[in-house]
Amino acid sequence: MATDTNETKELHGSCLCKGVSYTLSGAVREISHCYCSQCRRTHGLMGSYTRSNWDDVHFTNKKTLQWFRSSDSAERGFCNTCGSSLFWHRLDSGYVAISAGTLDQPTGLKVAGHIYTDDLPDYYSLPDDGMPRYGTTSDGKLDGDLST
Ligand SMILES: [Zn+2]
Repeated sequence: MATDTNETKELHGSCLCKGVSYTLSGAVREISHCYCSQCRRTHGLMGSYTRSNWDDVHFTNKKTLQWFRSSDSAERGFCNTCGSSLFWHRLDSGYVAISAGTLDQPTGLKVAGHIYTDDLPDYYSLPDDGMPRYGTTSDGKLDGDLST
C-alpha cells in the first residue's frame, strides 16, 4: 500500500513560461520514473511524476493550460505556449499526476522507483539505484504510481 508523504508542506510549480502555475495544498506521493512510450514521446526519456488529489491542486494561472486526450483512459495537460508537459490525469479519477520537473525546488520528495521498464528505449540503461522496478504498472505498490 502506497503511503503519502509531505502531509503538510505546500508545493508550488509552473511551466516554463509561467502561463500555467499551481499550488499543491495536500499530501503528495513520492516520485516515480515512468518509461512508457507515451511518457518517452512527451518528455524525451521518462516521465517523473508525483501525485495529488485534484481537490488539492489550486491554479494561480492556467490561461495556457491545454489537455490532450492521450489514450482511452487518460489525458495529459500541457502549456500551449511553451510546450511544458505538466499533468497526467486518468479520466474519472480524483487525482492527477504532476510532472516533478515543473515543481519549484526544493521539493523534499524522493524517487520511489521505476515503472514501465519494458518500454525502456535502447539508448538508455536504468541506474543501479536499488529502487523497485516494474515492467509495466506497479499496481499501486509503488509510491507515485500513475496507474492506481
Ligand atoms: Zn508555458
